[in-house]
Amino acid sequence: MNKIYVVGIGPGAYEKMTIEADRALQSSDMIIGYTVYVDLVKEHYPTKIFLTTPMKKEVDRCMMAFEEAKKGHVVSMICSGDTGVYGMAGLMYEIGEKYPDVELKIIPGVTAALAGAAVLGAPLIHDFCLISLSDLLTPKEKIKSRLLHASEADFVICLYNPSSKKRSGYLRWACDLMMEYKSEDTVCGIVKNIGREKESVLLLSLSQLKNTDVDMFTTVFIGNSQTKQVDGHMVTPRGYKGV
Ligand code: SAH
Repeated sequence: MNKIYVVGIGPGAYEKMTIEADRALQSSDMIIGYTVYVDLVKEHYPTKIFLTTPMKKEVDRCMMAFEEAKKGHVVSMICSGDTGVYGMAGLMYEIGEKYPDVELKIIPGVTAALAGAAVLGAPLIHDFCLISLSDLLTPKEKIKSRLLHASEADFVICLYNPSSKKRSGYLRWACDLMMEYKSEDTVCGIVKNIGREKESVLLLSLSQLKNTDVDMFTTVFIGNSQTKQVDGHMVTPRGYKGV
């Protein structure tokens, strides 16, 4: 049976890829992905055939993977971070219904929330949730409801897709909503280009976050009511006594 590996390559750096992901790419003869992700891994797999498609061509990219697998290639479809977190794993299964002779193997990767949390300190140590601010595939009303409910429930919130050219005011909008339940002094963090060149990190309050511009290569962390700064790190206590 023909096989496609759906591989999460982690946030960027080769060292942050899992051994299983590396082995899947080594054993493939073709690697398919969005141009930016292919460029991140290319130098480590010089003998492979690379196929790329631009952003927003996700369906085409998946079809391409199945067509190549049908021809007999061992294909890896790559995504940044984890393929099951705002990635391609689900779409691959949906499109795969038309290709019953191709088997999928999903290989997990380190998602931006976890890689970014390690840069900040320990912000996600307790209950947290991930919310994407992109309304490309999700109605804005639903995003609003999730922001409000997660804030009311005092979750640590990690925001993916916090901004893009068309959505420049969305982080400010989200901060206003979260401030309905979270204090404006809530400890927050932003991490840009995690595991890539020019990685940067900043700790700030929720009211400062509201007035900060971020780009699409940034993941944003909003603490819960217990989150604090410890020695320049963002730390959410688990509640151990005696410290
Ligand atoms: N599948 C990916 C997420 C894709 S959605 C994962 O599991 O990480 C794209 C969003 O993820 C970006 O807008 C950004 O918010 C976040 N992201 C992905 N890689 C990142 C990185 N290296 N540094 C900072 N944020 C990143």
